[in-house]
Amino acid sequence: MSSLRIDKAQVDWDASSDVPRSIFFDDVYFSGDGPAETAHVFLAGNDLPKRFETTTRFHIGELGFGTGLNILTAWQAWLKTQKPDSAKLHFLSVEAFPLSTAEMERAHKAWPLLAPLSKTLRAALPPPHLGFHHIALSNDVSLTLFYGDAFEGMANAEAKIDAWFLDGFAPSKNPAMWSPELFAELARLSKPNATFSTFTVAGAVRRALESAGFEWEKRPGHGRKREMLAGHIDKPPQNSKRAPWFATQTRTLKPSASIAVIGAGIAGASLAHELTRAGFHPSVYDASGPASGASGNPAGLIMPRLDLGDTAAGRFHTIAYLHTLGLLNELDSDSLFNPCGVLHHAANDKERERQEKLLAQPALPEGWIEKRDEGLFFPQGGVVDPVAFVYGLLGETTVIQERVLQISQQENAWRVITHESEQTFDAVVIANGLDALRFADARTLPLAGSAGQIDWFPDANALDHAHAFGPYAAPAPKGGVIIGATYAPVAIGAETRFTREATESNIAAVARTLPQLAVTLDPNASTPRASVRCTTPDRLPVVGPMPDWAFYGAAYDDLRLGKQKEYPEGQMRDGLFILTGLGSRGLVTAPLAAAMIAAEMTGAPSPVDLDIAQALHPARFFIRDYKRARSRIL
Ligand code: SAM
Repeated sequence: MSSLRIDKAQVDWDASSDVPRSIFFDDVYFSGDGPAETAHVFLAGNDLPKRFETTTRFHIGELGFGTGLNILTAWQAWLKTQKPDSAKLHFLSVEAFPLSTAEMERAHKAWPLLAPLSKTLRAALPPPHLGFHHIALSNDVSLTLFYGDAFEGMANAEAKIDAWFLDGFAPSKNPAMWSPELFAELARLSKPNATFSTFTVAGAVRRALESAGFEWEKRPGHGRKREMLAGHIDKPPQNSKRAPWFATQTRTLKPSASIAVIGAGIAGASLAHELTRAGFHPSVYDASGPASGASGNPAGLIMPRLDLGDTAAGRFHTIAYLHTLGLLNELDSDSLFNPCGVLHHAANDKERERQEKLLAQPALPEGWIEKRDEGLFFPQGGVVDPVAFVYGLLGETTVIQERVLQISQQENAWRVITHESEQTFDAVVIANGLDALRFADARTLPLAGSAGQIDWFPDANALDHAHAFGPYAAPAPKGGVIIGATYAPVAIGAETRFTREATESNIAAVARTLPQLAVTLDPNASTPRASVRCTTPDRLPVVGPMPDWAFYGAAYDDLRLGKQKEYPEGQMRDGLFILTGLGSRGLVTAPLAAAMIAAEMTGAPSPVDLDIAQALHPARFFIRDYKRARSRIL
């Protein structure tokens, strides 16, 4: 992916109809009777809403999000259709030149019937920042929106689409939105028999569609347009763009599938939230109850981890930050999030230099990062109450307070065994931090424990905002100040205890950056808490389906000899997934990681680009080791 900056749309407005027109492309976003045109060209053109009646999951892909009118019209038709219980609609759309929400509001003004949906859409829209953004519009409707060039978005997307809305500006004015290369990506992202429709019948468009495997026919157009195109693709290519060992095609779970989640910290709670949204009724196990481990601290920072350059890791952290803030906004956030802002101090010259470089790259959308004398300030960041966050995400999901001793595969199901019970599930997600190593399948992963202590001073004078400088100091949700955290390696199963030395070390760390605060902190007045984070060697979480390690050992053994050959695709432990290794950033990264797993289970558009999915894949350490072994052998 390239690190292109997102340009805003440049529009003017038709004096009589108030229809927006792109100045750059010299074309209108829709004709005067927008929703009627959409209903004819894009809904009827794809046999909608009729196909909604029998669907449990329907995925619409679109070229050109524009004002969002197509999506609003399809959403409204969805609401009016009698469908199976808990049916879900998911949109995937791309937009290189986002309109402002004020412009969208103006564009929708002519259709009061759409006003409530328009308001919801505008409130949930992500800020204009290159890359994928995943938002929930309601309980049953979600949107994955890629900001950036259509080809770049589709070439890096993963999805199984049922119906395509091809809605770029006129091909003569915008050929890039109708190219054979782009349509080849749409073919790759299509379900068998996926349909498409579009307002144009241009010869170049028909040829590009044919070259990608789509069949088309002409149909009567809308209004003054005589004709339009509709069609389908019988057998889309099934080739994955991932490296073979990450090309792990998992079986899509039926909506009635039963799922167990092991762990009720931020990972398990985020999974409960996402899986419930996806229509499942997950059972969450945690011997100690919700938020009893590292997620049980009295406060946690919500701030981005910004990386220099355009890397999968950097994109993941940035999008995760935007995603979590969107989610906090969606949950009743007043009680659980204090958006006081976070100041990331440039504690030394090296960090100052790094921050200068960050400011020169499009690290965050405009208004999301401010330069201050001390460092970088993130005005939207703040302090979350982790326990309230975990409970907010769990919602109605009950937590079974039993320790899972073993999980074992039985034909197509998984048996979850505790001291008290044995239950069978269609799928299991291991999401219990370092304790994942208790399960044989996870033992190959290089997970490590890092004990951390925070100190809470309930009576300390509150801070205006949070400070990060490696360690951090922040206003605590229940009053006073919280500082932390220490880092010390720890073995699995080891007891963690808070200590006086750790309290003093936390105060000493604050003293180096905020001496005036440090002198007010009396070690005797602290309420300390110690817990264990689960870390990985590359400091990225482990997210995805569980590899079948025996298969990996056999199929990729030649990698150790540096052999270049056609390798088979990876095989997975069918129905087993893992989400762990969140380090000290779980409050920011777990919700997006959980959305990745839910998409993997349902076949919905992935909330991240495919390089991120590969960078977080559970097989990455194994493959790296095999490749490294090569240099040791030679
Ligand atoms: N479907 C939209 C709606 O419901 O309002 C109207 C789409 S408008 C006709 C075409 C859109 O495609 C514009 O918003 C434009 O900015 C966007 N676009 C044009 N070229 C693009 C490109 N190469 N990549 C991504 N989006 C592009």
